[in-house]
Amino acid sequence: MPLYEYQCRQCQDRFELLQPMNVTTEEIAKLECPQCRAINPKKILSIFSGQTTNSMDSGRTDCATPVG
Ligand SMILES: [Zn+2]
Repeated sequence: MPLYEYQCRQCQDRFELLQPMNVTTEEIAKLECPQCRAINPKKILSIFSGQTTNSMDSGRTDCATPVG
């Protein structure tokens, strides 16, 4: 499960939570701030590791080709 970062609307505290990919806004609205117990935090970002380089190979052949 990905790690999401939230910010409390009450005390502006930031906290991270593991949430399923398909988490709904209704589920987020039920989350509690660990500091002041306020609910409905603001979703900031999912945590990604720094992706700065785009040196990916564009010549991949992942297609299942029948071997003759
Ligand atoms: Zn709070």
